[in-house]
Amino acid sequence: MSNRRADAILADATNVLQTDDGGDDVACDVKLRRRGNVTKFNSGDGSIDNPDDFRLIMEVPGDIKVVDEINWCGDGNSRFWFMPKILGCAPIGGKSLAVVRHTSNLEGILWAHEYGHNKGLAKTRTRHRSDSNALMYKKVHTNARRVSRAECGAFQE
Ligand SMILES: [Zn+2]
Repeated sequence: MSNRRADAILADATNVLQTDDGGDDVACDVKLRRRGNVTKFNSGDGSIDNPDDFRLIMEVPGDIKVVDEINWCGDGNSRFWFMPKILGCAPIGGKSLAVVRHTSNLEGILWAHEYGHNKGLAKTRTRHRSDSNALMYKKVHTNARRVSRAECGAFQE
């Protein structure tokens, strides 16, 4: 991951938020940008497989942690599950998130989605939006871009 690539992903994420894609989507006036250089970290083995792995990665300085694999992601404070090949994991209301690399045209959507969790959206796995075109739908795909007025407010906080 280079600064240039991080900037491109953040520009895509910003575009997802700022563009009105129909339905209940609003053009949300939010800009995501890089605050420092992309750096490498050595905590963990690149794979998040349990709560301890996740905690360790969340403690690494910085906001967005790109890892090789995510196989565990917590659900709220108590329930959790183990499943292979998760694309991202972000504590609700937290200040950091973990993602894996993904198809280049989807990384902006993925980062915006996980950041949405940091901002308090879709508080549990089952509380993702049912609209498959919503950014906070449970799956990341090219049309998952809609951000409601209320969700925009969360992003702007
Ligand atoms: Zn999610």
